[in-house]
Amino acid sequence: MQQNYSLMVHGGAGALDHVSDDRVAVRYLESIRVVLEHGRETLARGATAVEAVEQCASLLEDDPLFNAGCGSVLNENGKVEMDAGIMDGRDLAAGAVAAVGNIANPVQLARLVMDGSEHVLLISEGALRFAQHCGIKLTPDHYFFTPERIKQLEQARLRGRMMLDHDEEGEAQKYGTIGAVARDRDGNLAAATSTGGIVNKRSGRVGDSPVIGAGVYADNTSCAVSATGYGEDFMRTVFAKTLADFVEFRDADARTAVDQGLRLLRRKVSGRGGVICIDRAGRCASGMTTKKMIHGWIEHGGETLCRF
Ligand code: ASP
Repeated sequence: MQQNYSLMVHGGAGALDHVSDDRVAVRYLESIRVVLEHGRETLARGATAVEAVEQCASLLEDDPLFNAGCGSVLNENGKVEMDAGIMDGRDLAAGAVAAVGNIANPVQLARLVMDGSEHVLLISEGALRFAQHCGIKLTPDHYFFTPERIKQLEQARLRGRMMLDHDEEGEAQKYGTIGAVARDRDGNLAAATSTGGIVNKRSGRVGDSPVIGAGVYADNTSCAVSATGYGEDFMRTVFAKTLADFVEFRDADARTAVDQGLRLLRRKVSGRGGVICIDRAGRCASGMTTKKMIHGWIEHGGETLCRF
């Protein structure tokens, strides 16, 4: 049986930059490993890259450690407003939702937008109506809230009042988005990104994660990309599509595309964050401008590797 699949997942850039307790880091890495093993089984069975990224992203959304689905960060009103996007590299089909609450798995709703609507991006109330139309039950607010996120919002509000510029620690607490990219046994690519966004963000703010070409992108002729970090920086540089252009038009491999992309991100907008990328040949690469990014990968069906 051909095992030439590749898979990468991330749990956010910056989130662990200031965590000195190794036990906390180990919990994150263990979760990433479990998700990768699940994805391995899915891809080895012959599932498509889209199925694999949707499943991996859903598992990470279900884990309160990460800033997506359950455990999403809170906005300025103490509410959860989530964004998610998914893309199929076979035909550039894409689906996304933005500023939604009460959806346990926004990535699954994004997939429904991709497969079952004539649109790419649905937001807020309209996205919720579409979810109900598709038979998705709304999940009560308390499911999404964790004590850590409430504390984090309080700290962010305090910091906001106390200082205009962010201290290092403040920056580190803002990220934690999740993402997955895959190449299946047939060589098809897919990407998914899902997030609660940034702590204490303005109500109605949408980040890069559901913006096709910014925080998520997949095209069989180039690569699959999921980004994490300060979303405005990724939108302004059309980051994910820029990496894809490096692969398609400059014949870069995943490693070169990530390195060149991050150089550009730094140079143009002093961008903060990280990225995972699988190119059309199944090569995996990651990088970040923050100190850390929780992530892991399986290249060409090989060993499961996790890093932060
Ligand atoms: N990129 C996400 C956003 O700006 C945040 C993150 O990656 O943690 O909404």
